[in-house]
Amino acid sequence: MHARPFIDSLDFASNGQQISSEVLVADLSRLADVLSNSEGALSYTIRGAVNKYHIPLLVLKLNGKCQLTCQRCLQGMSYEIQVDTSVLLRDQAGLDQLDDAELDEEYESILADAHLDVWHLLEDEILLSLPFAPKHESGVCRSTSEVEPQQNESHPFAALTKLKN
Ligand SMILES: [Zn+2]
Repeated sequence: MHARPFIDSLDFASNGQQISSEVLVADLSRLADVLSNSEGALSYTIRGAVNKYHIPLLVLKLNGKCQLTCQRCLQGMSYEIQVDTSVLLRDQAGLDQLDDAELDEEYESILADAHLDVWHLLEDEILLSLPFAPKHESGVCRSTSEVEPQQNESHPFAALTKLKN
């Protein structure tokens, strides 16, 4: 549906360019491992800018829904992706020139690329934003009682011991 976009990242940032588009979850192939299925579409905006230290950066906003696997009941669950972040651009040499104050720990940095794969960047940011163990809200899981350990069986091997006997 959409062609894979590429940007010249430094040029994009210093000229304050912007792109707004959509991408199918199914097209973000590096997400496949964490999805229960590839339904859904995401909309995103990437804006180029230069911060007060004259460091070029990309401001990225992304939202939409994807389908993850609940780690409690192992059923699919709809998950709302919300990414709102900035990524500093650096060249290989430039990394050492940024002192700690400038390279704010809140921001990640990526290598400047004249042919930056936008979908690849989106995949990186989405993977960083996803919960490690996504779960339905409590009480929503199907057959919760079968999956969750009983509260009075605190010993993790209690069930095993029973089987052995
Ligand atoms: Zn669940």
